[in-house]
Amino acid sequence: MKGKVYLVGAGPGDPGLSTLRARETIFQCDVLVYDHLANPELRKWALPDCEQIDVGKSPGRHTVPQEEIGKILVSKAKQGKMVVRLKGGDPFVFGRCAEEMSVLDDAEIDYEIVPGVTAALACAEYAGIPLSHRDYGSSISFLTGHEDVTKESLRVDFTKFAEVGGTLCIYMGISKMEEIVEALLKGGLSKDKPAAVVSNGTLPTQRHLRCKLGELLAECKKAELKAPAIIFVGNAVGLSFRNSWFEDRPLYSRRIAITRSASQNSEMKSKLKELGAQVLELPLIRIIPTQDRKLVTEVFSSIATYDWVVFTSANGAREFMRLFFLAYGDIRSFGPMRIACVGDATAEIFRSYNLEVELTPKISTAENLAQELVATDSLDSANVLVITGNRNREVLVNMLETVGHAIVDSLPLYETDFSDVTEAEDLADFKKYGADAVLFTSSSTALSYVEQEDDLILEEGAKKPILCSFGPETSRTLKENDLIVSLEAETPSMDQMIAALISQFKNPKNEAISGN
Ligand code: SAH
Repeated sequence: MKGKVYLVGAGPGDPGLSTLRARETIFQCDVLVYDHLANPELRKWALPDCEQIDVGKSPGRHTVPQEEIGKILVSKAKQGKMVVRLKGGDPFVFGRCAEEMSVLDDAEIDYEIVPGVTAALACAEYAGIPLSHRDYGSSISFLTGHEDVTKESLRVDFTKFAEVGGTLCIYMGISKMEEIVEALLKGGLSKDKPAAVVSNGTLPTQRHLRCKLGELLAECKKAELKAPAIIFVGNAVGLSFRNSWFEDRPLYSRRIAITRSASQNSEMKSKLKELGAQVLELPLIRIIPTQDRKLVTEVFSSIATYDWVVFTSANGAREFMRLFFLAYGDIRSFGPMRIACVGDATAEIFRSYNLEVELTPKISTAENLAQELVATDSLDSANVLVITGNRNREVLVNMLETVGHAIVDSLPLYETDFSDVTEAEDLADFKKYGADAVLFTSSSTALSYVEQEDDLILEEGAKKPILCSFGPETSRTLKENDLIVSLEAETPSMDQMIAALISQFKNPKNEAISGN
């Protein structure tokens, strides 16, 4: 049985700009053939057993010749594989897609083409540069500045495009900018014609400039804008708006490393990204569900006898509900026990089942949880179940027993273990470019950081991050290990941490931006 090849547009960079079809094909494929313009994030959508082949060119690196790429596609498809050939932007826009189609045709291999958002459109939009306007521009041309065309007659004659007018979007033009500008001026464009350059468009490293055509070369050199970049020329390009909705976001281009276990990171990650940050995932802990079967059975069989059930973490809460449904399968068996949670993230899990959470302390620490429980005056001789992890506070149980006079059962449901940071996908990036901040959500992430500091040493020139802590306990752990805590959230919550980051990092727009 023959396989099939999917020629898939990856979009311009921001993974959110790839199509549903792209995501679907990446998820389903057996082989993924990609180059450097496709954001590595997209490759994370592939299943673990998907074979990933890098055919990309990056400056100064050996590249797989086009012919070879064709051969790879054909041979993998002939083995019956579903092959995705992932291309930056749109496959038909300077993507050498036609060559791959011919090769596949010759080999009688079926293919499908998945369009993508091309860089010119996305870059213009993310920089707030209009390409057309009723009064200022009614044609848009996509041109390539690349000199790598064998036939002289096939090269773009920029003097002619000066006459065409409208908006010119020039791909691959950075290294040939001098010649391009010269040709456009020679062709009759005014030195004052509005121009712009957007580099690394749609990525957290996006930068752009606008100026007059005559100043483009000097301005671009000054700003050190590098490839990949698109050059825009035309009257519409000169229309200015509230600068850039994308680059003006409060954490724009800040590199922020998050250290929780991979499974806990998604909300934090998406909130930070929404604010413009580049998020590096360096999981320093991992959560492993662990249960003493006998204890679990005992607790669940007498679940109706508890007055309070107390959750000190979202992990415990999630695992508890999973086991609860395994045991009972029906929410009505939950019983009348009252629920207390250490913080909002934990409480949210119960609220999603429409279960009322009666107590969450004002400050999300185990001590405060215990104090506020004691203050309810309902603990004397009450049966209390505390759901814990292995690193959980004896403090809580002690207080409930000694101050509140409760009868406490502890049920450990998970373990927090240090995870090996050398396995983190973003580690190389972190070491090479550093970060603006590292966030520690718990003492265990801090301890794991200390233990693995040797593996986290930054390369020369990398940005040294500030260390940020979610709360007093985490800060204490960092300080005990001679680390400087630059930022602490007012209360231990994600939103407070983000608020603190925003006030720490006022929009860095005009600063030099490190990173790739
Ligand atoms: N098929 C791609 C273009 C490939 S040619 C597409 O449709 O977008 C490669 C050129 O695309 C680069 O030299 C640069 O000019 C442009 N490009 C691609 N991604 C870009 C990005 N994120 N920001 C700016 N330019 C980009």
